Amino acid sequence: MRKKEKAKAILETLAGLYPEAHCSLDFETPLDLLIATQLAAQCTDARVNIVTKDLFKKYRTAEDYAAASLEELEQDIKSTGFFRNKARNIKECCIRLITVYGGKVPDTMEDLLTLPGVGRKTANVVLSTIFNKPGVIVDTHCTRLSRRLGLTKSENPEIIERDLMKLIPEDQWANFSHYLVFHGREVCQARKPRCGSCSILPYCDFARKKLE
Ligand code: SF4
Repeated sequence: MRKKEKAKAILETLAGLYPEAHCSLDFETPLDLLIATQLAAQCTDARVNIVTKDLFKKYRTAEDYAAASLEELEQDIKSTGFFRNKARNIKECCIRLITVYGGKVPDTMEDLLTLPGVGRKTANVVLSTIFNKPGVIVDTHCTRLSRRLGLTKSENPEIIERDLMKLIPEDQWANFSHYLVFHGREVCQARKPRCGSCSILPYCDFARKKLE
């Protein structure tokens, strides 16, 4: 089966399994999502959602984060891990939002990538979820599943993003990313993939090699 046909079959199967798949970070405003996505680095979305429940009540605007003391912000996000780096980046990111973008979250990849702490993953989450623009979101689940399924050979997120962009229709880029997250959590876990109950087993290189 050609790679593109395989990707199409995987997309259709997962779309049937997870019609409700969506970004699982809680947010109300574009700024909330920008911050939540930064906090989600090396942390689960569930943990981030616990932390942001109070955080988003306390910090409502870019000005609020920019004016906060670094020590206080660090304490407020501590349980998401890597809190010193994250706090510094969030503060600097919000200062740039105020000075360059009038306190608003920009809507292009180019502009988002100029913000401290914002990489392509965060930018694609914001672009697809807030601005309805196409974007492949390469997180740990997307990386693991894309490699197991044989849709990419790379471990480099930028190359994985490019490989998936070639295989998946543009209007499904974000959905496909969400499907992989849902399937990664429910079936294809990192340590113990449940291949015996997996609906996309027929398309999976990892499972085929295991059976050989
Ligand atoms: S067959 Fe196994 S390794 Fe392949 S996607 Fe399914 S659970 Fe993951």
